[in-house]
Amino acid sequence: MHKKTLLILFLLFLSQTSFLSIAESTPNQQGVVDLRILETTDLHASLINYDYYQTKADNRIGLVKTATLIRTARNEVQNSLLFDDGDHLKGNPLGEYLARIRGIHRGKIHPVYRAFNFLDYDAVAIGNHEFNYGLDFLNAAIKGAKMPVINANVFSVKKNKPYFTPYVILKRNVVDQTGRKHELKIGVISFMPTQIMKWDKANLEGKITAKPIVDTAKEFIPIMKSKGADIIVALAHTGISYEPYNAESENVVYYLSKIPGIDAVLAGHSHSVFPGPVYKNSPHTNIKMGQINGKPVVMAGAFGSRLGIIDLRIQKSNGTWRVVKGTSLTRPIADESGNPLVRKDKGLYKLVKPEHQETVDFIKKLGL
Ligand SMILES: [Zn+2]
Repeated sequence: MHKKTLLILFLLFLSQTSFLSIAESTPNQQGVVDLRILETTDLHASLINYDYYQTKADNRIGLVKTATLIRTARNEVQNSLLFDDGDHLKGNPLGEYLARIRGIHRGKIHPVYRAFNFLDYDAVAIGNHEFNYGLDFLNAAIKGAKMPVINANVFSVKKNKPYFTPYVILKRNVVDQTGRKHELKIGVISFMPTQIMKWDKANLEGKITAKPIVDTAKEFIPIMKSKGADIIVALAHTGISYEPYNAESENVVYYLSKIPGIDAVLAGHSHSVFPGPVYKNSPHTNIKMGQINGKPVVMAGAFGSRLGIIDLRIQKSNGTWRVVKGTSLTRPIADESGNPLVRKDKGLYKLVKPEHQETVDFIKKLGL
């Protein structure tokens, strides 16, 4: 072998060994990633901190306030994802005005999705109330979303396939505790109560069917794993109940959290707060850690009143990521007396103000 080649090989060997010794000196830190997952849920079109019925500011609601919590929670960590858990289009006069009076004009984006785009949500769930204005309105609204809008247990009658995108596998570059970058594949799946077939019979019958949430999860989770999902987050538009499970159960977070492969559950639909004192003496539930059946679960109330936060610590060993710790908490936008704890996000306020003002003007015109 040529002398020069030998020298290069020797230098290469040296660089390899020094790399190995650095890696070996910090074995616990290798491939340990802290990943924060943020949740809004059941916004019910509460974009502004405003009560349209009493026509005055209400600092206990409004995504413009939650947005400030979102920014803070993101800035505290290196790796984060943001999701909405559904029921975001209907529930206040702004939602009604847009769906029933003004409509979404061609080329315009529904202000709820404009807000989601602005805040850079990673994916959003479809909730049962999203069907209240009919499938055409929903499909038109979804077109404006830059992020995946997903649900796995609503099926098209004609095609016998999921009506929406059932799940996504998001590829994200994350930074571990030593500053090294990794590509992480985060599987995200979403569900809603099967009761939609009763609640929105006129809009849905003959067009879609709803399959039981837990059965659907058990069907899709192995598929997502086989497609490379390192971890799986469930956007579960369903509440927490400890009643025995049956296929008709509406609130199934307790049973979803038992399914192997699901690493974190974002709950919703019932407008409760988890972790919270209501669940203090519930079975297999740890409200200090924010866990049910050992899995992190969060439910951030409703109307933007709180931000849900799950903090996951995941570790890579032998090429496989696994969750080694998962805890949750919620942060409120106001104290118990309704005093604001955060300012509104000015950028978001400016962005959604036109439709807010139109709604206020419309209510005034009606003399309400
Ligand atoms: Zn709901």
